[in-house]
Amino acid sequence: MPCIAQRNRPLLLQGTLTTFRRRCGKPTCRCAAGEPHESPALRYTEDGRTKTLTLTTAEVAQVTAALARYEKAKADLDAQAAEGITLLRGGRTARGGAER
Ligand SMILES: [Zn+2]
Repeated sequence: MPCIAQRNRPLLLQGTLTTFRRRCGKPTCRCAAGEPHESPALRYTEDGRTKTLTLTTAEVAQVTAALARYEKAKADLDAQAAEGITLLRGGRTARGGAER
């Protein structure tokens, strides 16, 4: 299995970890009687469409960490952007308002 974490940069992912349920179609399988197969999956958005990528058990931990890394990075960026607005606003009032 190729390791998805073998990269120079840590893996980042945006999405939601869910459980994917499906019926395989075999008439004799237990899923035909009502208990669908379950596998961990990542739901994400690509080109405005929600997609689901099923994951192996081994990938779940890496994906969970990658999702957390993204959330952390996004929160940091949002905080910096909020600070930017504060600075921009602050500069205007100090100059008595930058009216155009
Ligand atoms: Zn089945």
